[in-house]
Amino acid sequence: MSKVLIIGAGGVGSVVVHKCAQVEEVFSEICLASRTLSRCENIQKSVKERTGRDIEIAQVDADNVAETVALIKRVNPKLVLNLALPYQDLHIMDACLETGVDYLDTANYEPPDEAKFCYKWQWDYQARFKEKGLMALLGSGFDPGVTNVYCAHAAKHHFDEIHYVDILDANAGDHGHPFATNFNPEINIREVTAKGKYWENGTWVETAPLSIKQSYDFPAIGPKNAYLMYHEELESLAKNIKGLKRIRFWMTFSDNYLKHLEVLQNVGMTGIEPVMFEGREIIPLQFLKALLPDPASLGPRTKGKTCIGCEVEGVKDGKPKKMFIYNVCDHEECYREVGSQAISYTTGVPAMIGAMMMLTGKWRGAGVFNMEELDPDPFMEKLNIHGLPWVEKVMI
Ligand code: NDP
Repeated sequence: MSKVLIIGAGGVGSVVVHKCAQVEEVFSEICLASRTLSRCENIQKSVKERTGRDIEIAQVDADNVAETVALIKRVNPKLVLNLALPYQDLHIMDACLETGVDYLDTANYEPPDEAKFCYKWQWDYQARFKEKGLMALLGSGFDPGVTNVYCAHAAKHHFDEIHYVDILDANAGDHGHPFATNFNPEINIREVTAKGKYWENGTWVETAPLSIKQSYDFPAIGPKNAYLMYHEELESLAKNIKGLKRIRFWMTFSDNYLKHLEVLQNVGMTGIEPVMFEGREIIPLQFLKALLPDPASLGPRTKGKTCIGCEVEGVKDGKPKKMFIYNVCDHEECYREVGSQAISYTTGVPAMIGAMMMLTGKWRGAGVFNMEELDPDPFMEKLNIHGLPWVEKVMI
């Protein structure tokens, strides 16, 4: 029986609150806080209608550490789940350290003025969390998150040595808009327009943005072009999977999405440097975000499926082995269950399960942890129970 404080009432935050509300025996009390109270009120109403449960709500600017500390002290949770944006990670970790509360997030820190995410900033909190006996679980979404756990599961149950990992992320959902992003547009576009990068033979190889593509035949979706990108779980998996020779990340994009993105980039709309407009500074990407559909509004109109998984290759009992571990998720089914599309759902369910692992003591430790460092078995079991069943396909 534990109380949790969930910060961030966006697309993912909404799924997390709904999923936590479904598991009252673990999440006995829930408080949702965000910058805009009306967003919390909408989620509070939906949770009451769908599950009959009452949740507490609050307003907070999580960039203000003192304000967040005061909120944590008042709410007195066992765990803070950060579902705001990566910019808030360090501020919320600081507030957790000050109040002595465990921490969980789904995306690693990224400075607002530089499109560069990496774990260094959060790994630097290792000693401080350890000293206080607190646990911080980083990247408990799908990718990062479930993809890390799939790798840990492959290492524990299927391979003596893993040599190659390709993480494959396909979204064949159709929301009917000419252009929209499935999660926060600013974070999404910063990620997609960045240089690609993969890890091979102990070094990082950089590629021009979206310059390498391959066609994959995805289960339940069919063939799709997937583009090589840098993604945050590569950094921790390259460090934590011993004997690894190469790890890459691939994501599908429709030709239509890429056409719009190219035009927006060419006219400067994806820039993060301030420009002067009618006597005041604006950041083009933030202005673009204000024009694009809110990801949380895509739920009722998105049809189709996602397929995300890890193709793992290596050696078992002296023989070569290759397998694909994956999940298929249906946008419309997610909407029926929690009122959100599958991208928010596939991120929110693992955040709830990560929290459940910590609160029930299945995952425990002092310090800062990436998902693959913990026992994959109880997490994999809960994925099957809470809406993200997995499939294993042996290829060789
Ligand atoms: P949204 O933009 O929909 O939601 C973010 C929410 O955070 C908004 O409601 C916003 O409030 C709130 N917020 C922003 N700044 C603050 C602040 N200073 N204080 C308090 N609240 C704040 O994003 P998503 O729900 O799509 O994404 C949430 C997180 O999930 C992101 O970090 C994203 O990178 C991550 N993610 C991870 C994935 C994974 O698989 N690991 C996949 C997809 C997303 P307001 O509306 O008032 O501005």
